[in-house]
Amino acid sequence: MKKILTTVFIITAMSLQAQQSKDTKMQSFITNLMNKMTLEEKIGQLNLPSEGDIITGLGKNSNISGKIKKGQVGGMFNIKGVDKIKEIQRIAVEESRMKIPMLFGMDVIHGYETVFPIPLGLAASWNLKAIEESAHIAATEASADGINWTFSPMVDIARDPRWGRVSEGSGEDPFLGGQIAKAMIRGYQGKDNSFSSNTNILACVKHFALYGAAEAGRDYNTVDMSRVRMYNEYLYPYQAAVDAGAGSIMASFNVIDGIPSHANKWLLTDLLRDQWKFEGFTVADYGGVGEIVNHGLGDIKTVSEMALKAGLDMDMVSEGFISSFTKSVAEGKITQAQVDTACRRVLEAKYKLGLFANPYKYCDASRAKKDIYNKEHRAIARKTAAESFVLLKNTNNTLPLSKKQTIAVIGPLANTRSNMVGTWSVAAKLDKPATVVEGLQAVAGKNATILYAKGSNLTDDAVLEKNSTIFGRELGRDSRSEEELIAEALKIAAQADVIVATMGEASEMSGESSSRTDIGIPTVQQRLLKELLKTGKPVVLVLFAGRPMTLVWEDQNVPAILNVWFGGSEAGYAIGDVLFGDVNPSGKLASTFPRSIGQIPLYYNHLNTGRPASDKGFEKFRSNYMDEKNAPLYPFGYGLSYTTFTYSDISLSSATMNADGEINASVRVTNSGNVAGAEVVQLYIRDLVGSISRPVKELKGFEKIQLKAGESKTVTFKITADLLKFYNSELQHLAEPGDFDLMIGSSSQDVKTTRFTLK
Ligand code: BGC
Repeated sequence: MKKILTTVFIITAMSLQAQQSKDTKMQSFITNLMNKMTLEEKIGQLNLPSEGDIITGLGKNSNISGKIKKGQVGGMFNIKGVDKIKEIQRIAVEESRMKIPMLFGMDVIHGYETVFPIPLGLAASWNLKAIEESAHIAATEASADGINWTFSPMVDIARDPRWGRVSEGSGEDPFLGGQIAKAMIRGYQGKDNSFSSNTNILACVKHFALYGAAEAGRDYNTVDMSRVRMYNEYLYPYQAAVDAGAGSIMASFNVIDGIPSHANKWLLTDLLRDQWKFEGFTVADYGGVGEIVNHGLGDIKTVSEMALKAGLDMDMVSEGFISSFTKSVAEGKITQAQVDTACRRVLEAKYKLGLFANPYKYCDASRAKKDIYNKEHRAIARKTAAESFVLLKNTNNTLPLSKKQTIAVIGPLANTRSNMVGTWSVAAKLDKPATVVEGLQAVAGKNATILYAKGSNLTDDAVLEKNSTIFGRELGRDSRSEEELIAEALKIAAQADVIVATMGEASEMSGESSSRTDIGIPTVQQRLLKELLKTGKPVVLVLFAGRPMTLVWEDQNVPAILNVWFGGSEAGYAIGDVLFGDVNPSGKLASTFPRSIGQIPLYYNHLNTGRPASDKGFEKFRSNYMDEKNAPLYPFGYGLSYTTFTYSDISLSSATMNADGEINASVRVTNSGNVAGAEVVQLYIRDLVGSISRPVKELKGFEKIQLKAGESKTVTFKITADLLKFYNSELQHLAEPGDFDLMIGSSSQDVKTTRFTLK
């Protein structure tokens, strides 16, 4: 044992030494380089302009190649195509004085050309390996096309489904979000963050911080939050990503304590650098520096100075830094040293990526052909998509469907390719994905007859429809009247044994700047759904959703509901796989589905309040609504399967635990149905008495297990005091002695409970 420990110590010491000498080498290289750079060239490294060929309408930067030659550009983003990128890199390293290679960023959010489910869907898989692999495949494809930096993962905790960007994150839970953040960093950057392979790219954690808490769910709106809530409920995923070695972090559009994140020194320096020891560089969000002017903190020069002094290293699009800083230094408003610090951080990232050794490391055109959208990646994306779907309802085993029948696929989303991939699919080929109709036919084979009718437009509101189908996500608004479309749908339905109603949101109805006050299925589609139900034939609702939606009526009236989010480039086939039972659904919600908009924000890990609601319905002078339950429609962690699982009672290795000890909590889970399936076993803990009010439960562990029909497995969770820690009112992170409820089950609302004591 001693020998092993000594060996471990020697190896650790050696790798520490190797790391240190690598760092020293890097630092002396950069110092050397910076000694030769002019102030203007250093400021240039802090500039991240946009070509404007992906995001339009927000203004773009001009004469970029001229600026690159003058050393005024540190990187660019959202440029697609290795040849294009290689040429721009050539200009940087051959035509600029200092020959410093550039960063090429992109919003590679859930895949590149092979598109995976939107992040909220990926989170619903609760499969960290699959999520890591999706990030690795995204990095492999992006890097084969010249990209060396992705603006992902988005780790903002979101409890308000009106906010369209819930689609881009991992839902409402900090623990789950933190695990996913770490998995994604590993997937993008590689396991040891050494960027040894040209398939490892730099990650960018965003949006720092609290962006998901925008008031009223309106994008870019004000955030105001106590420190205790921040530390306990919102910050963990960012910190987990920093701990995992994320190379960069992006500021958020909101204010914190009235100060925009981009200029918030407490956030970007005190918390991020001093407390969390972040070593990468910080970058603005799109135009974020310029927006500080709109927040009302000064003119562009003043706010650029504020941003740099607060700890923002790179300016995206605004060009506040390059337009002001020479003067700002001359006037003593900022120092050379402050510019140097930011410049060094950007250069370090380039060094770590290996760009100084080989500026074309990510420009290997031969890789593009074999690594992008290949068979292997697509097969994995199909499997992952199927794993992300959540079966919300399935009465009388309506699902799975038999492959030997006539199926009418009806709805505005049944026959669209571009809407399969969801928001932020910058690199996707929108004409490639199979439609739902095609996917079902491909999976069912020749014994099934698949019929199709559109049945309705996406919405009654042509303007909303237009805004929901931008970036090439057109559905093609049908000029026929609603009655004509329904009549055609009913004619098709009449020929079928079963109806697959394919409805919900279009791709751009969620995502950035897609806040909604009505999060139901658009009424024109609901009217179609009602008509389909009147036929008396079995109806399966295949729901496209970029957010939790309100579905009370659907839940009461439609026999089966499969939520497929936006499943990515292979979603059409994956939907077939699940509808026909080739794959048993195993997704579980990472975000609460409310019953009504009025309940929002609604989340499972809430505080108890002084007057908790009773189970019996409304009671006067309790914390409840006169006209609605407190309970959600579908809780966090919920999702059905084609089989059933039973849980034994929890067995504890001991009912007491010392501060430095550990106990094990086990359950035996049995597949009590007739087919194989996967179950996400979830561990929740409640701190019963604390120095501050503590949530009614918090996720503290989970494990996804596969069980054959009739098979049982024991799942064991290790409980240590670390798991019980929280931030008290002094923001000390500690576990307080006392009693804890420990819950294990198949959703946040379906658990077995036991109790233990921390001494
Ligand atoms: C978004 C970011 C994104 C950036 C660059 C912004 O509008 O908020 O998430 O990374 O644009 O495209």
